Amino acid sequence: MTTSADKRQQQPEDSGLASVATLPGVGPALAETLRKLGIERVQDLWFHLPLRYEDRTRITPIRDLVAGESAQVEGVVEAVETGFRYRPQLRVAIGDASRETLVLRFFHFRRQQIEQFKTGTRLRCYGAVRHGQHGLEMVHPQYRVVHGETPVEATLTPIYPVTEGLGQQRLRGVIEKALARLPDAAVLELIPQELLGPLGLMPLRDALLGVHRPAPDSDVTALLAGGHPAQQRLAFEELLAHHISLKRLRAKFRKHRAPALPVDPDLRKRFLDALPFTLTRAQRRVSEEVARDLARRVPMLRLVQGDVGSGKTVVAALAALHAIANGRQTALMAPTELLAEQHLRSFRAWFDPLDIEVVWLAGKVTGRARAAALAKLAAGAPIAIGTHALMQAGVEFTRLGLAIVDEQHRFGVQQRMNLRDKGAGAGEAPHQLVLTATPIPRTLAMSAYADLDVSTLDELPPERTPVRTVALANTRRDEVTERIRAACAEGRQAYWVCTLIEDSELLQAQAAEVAHAQLSAALPGISVGLVHGRMKPREKQAAMDAFKEGRIALLVATTVIEVGVDVPNASLMVIENAERLGLAQLHQLRGRVGRGSVASTCVLLYQPPLSGLAKQRIETLRETNDGFAIAEKDLRLRGPGELLGTRQTGEMGFRVADIVRDAALMPSVQRVGMAMLRAHPVLAHRLTERWIGAAARFASA
Ligand code: ADP
Ligand code: MG
Repeated sequence: MTTSADKRQQQPEDSGLASVATLPGVGPALAETLRKLGIERVQDLWFHLPLRYEDRTRITPIRDLVAGESAQVEGVVEAVETGFRYRPQLRVAIGDASRETLVLRFFHFRRQQIEQFKTGTRLRCYGAVRHGQHGLEMVHPQYRVVHGETPVEATLTPIYPVTEGLGQQRLRGVIEKALARLPDAAVLELIPQELLGPLGLMPLRDALLGVHRPAPDSDVTALLAGGHPAQQRLAFEELLAHHISLKRLRAKFRKHRAPALPVDPDLRKRFLDALPFTLTRAQRRVSEEVARDLARRVPMLRLVQGDVGSGKTVVAALAALHAIANGRQTALMAPTELLAEQHLRSFRAWFDPLDIEVVWLAGKVTGRARAAALAKLAAGAPIAIGTHALMQAGVEFTRLGLAIVDEQHRFGVQQRMNLRDKGAGAGEAPHQLVLTATPIPRTLAMSAYADLDVSTLDELPPERTPVRTVALANTRRDEVTERIRAACAEGRQAYWVCTLIEDSELLQAQAAEVAHAQLSAALPGISVGLVHGRMKPREKQAAMDAFKEGRIALLVATTVIEVGVDVPNASLMVIENAERLGLAQLHQLRGRVGRGSVASTCVLLYQPPLSGLAKQRIETLRETNDGFAIAEKDLRLRGPGELLGTRQTGEMGFRVADIVRDAALMPSVQRVGMAMLRAHPVLAHRLTERWIGAAARFASA
């Protein structure tokens, strides 16, 4: 459906769509540099928004400077000193009417610069203030020589994302020229008035001008914090653009047909009867939601989120039953080999008794074993489990009906969409089930997973006793060793997790080996095992098996055990250098204990002194075992990028929006998005072009 508003917006005189090369002073070289920033059209410049602002609207007396903040000062050169202590440096002392001195420190400088700083010269400087050897100083401030009364800037100075060969000044000039081409308010607006009006947001044109050239009387504090009405308006529009784009991706995917996979009640009953436990209410509800999706000829796109230990694996297995009952294949993919192996063990335990074969295909499966696995899949084997290797070219499924992806936050939307090509032939896509152990706050899920339906396992299986968490300085290691001795004497088992910030498997392995040697010496008579990422799979597996069967009482491990291990008799977990890990990871690790009915303890060993952030993280873990509460807190402490994993960060690289700060906008984003997709598809398309079109074109180039 195309409305009159749509038609108007389609008209070719749209000044925003013109190439940047049409702007005065933009030649081929500059156009090429701009392209590096994802800027090709005039409107890309309109929407190239300041990252932050510098406040040069006032001069701060030197006496009032605060370390850690940026400020503009003006003073007269009192002394100049060049030195060569460890490296060349230039120190310039300036003083002002507040009768304090500030040192400007330069490590790179030229002769002419020294000559500029004659005693008595008046300098205006902008920079970050910090504590130096002799009071406050600025390192490499921006500065210029001023004479007499020089007016300060009338407005905040916008700081844009730049690239090599294009500085702030020049870019600011180009953006100015682009802004001169902004059409009038009504033409610029892409959100229909009947949707926009009730939201009480500022007009887009005013918002753009407001952030590019803040008015002298604009609310400086709000602008610096990103909460100015102009920024809110833009944040709304940006969130809307992303939302629409995810919804469109979803709609495109759902145009494919999928095989209808109704339940086989008999098979399901046999499966459930053989399970060593009964499903929780949450598991029943979620697997019914999945069952409804699977019965339809539209590909399912569903995310199941649930805390560690909430029992997502069996929900996945129940979904696989649907495929099996209908002669279709299931592929289950996990981000790490270890996690995939854990699924393999669970699935084999459940499916072997039903005579259903589970094929193993990880990256490490090579040679004849690989050829055999591939042949089985090509012949229609019902279930395949593996890592990303399952998605590689060369892996052919004959009748893939269901793709299960564990740990969604390490996969990207694009990878998910690529799965459709593994479908069972022309126009048919497999159903998709995504499992994530990183619970996501609702508003965040709304923006991050707009392409998925979300089911939540909000209940843990019974007889789990909450884990008690204690934090101890690592000076108290001996006490901890004693605890381990006591626990093992009672026939219980323990983990000792070694962590390092370095992302080096070698260093991690070495740290674990050292800890293993120390603990073995300190705990005679207790069998201590070791598992780390540099061991051969067979050795790793042997250590895990020994631990699982109780032949090893204490398992020293690197964070490779973060996911995948399930030993209900383990009731003590010690995490070394806990201050180095993030909340989500600590919570995952802690989830390895508390899986049986004995009361479990998690000891967070830390290296004092703790930073404020580390303190808050440890405090949060001591207060709660609830993954959702922890995720909310994590989001506040770290921001969404890290919570969702690096891959998602790139995809969600927002310019003004902040999905935590602007979470309150999400319900209206969702409402307006739905209305625009339904009634104004052309406008919806143009909106996404504006906000992510350039970036997307750039990324795929
Ligand atoms: P996660 O959601 O973290 O992937 P898992 O699927 O690994 O959780 O399940 C954790 C443990 O709980 C496994 O040992 C599993 O067999 C067990 N489990 C799952 N569902 C139930 C249930 N309803 N009752 C008892 N134990 C269960
Ligand atoms: Mg799991």
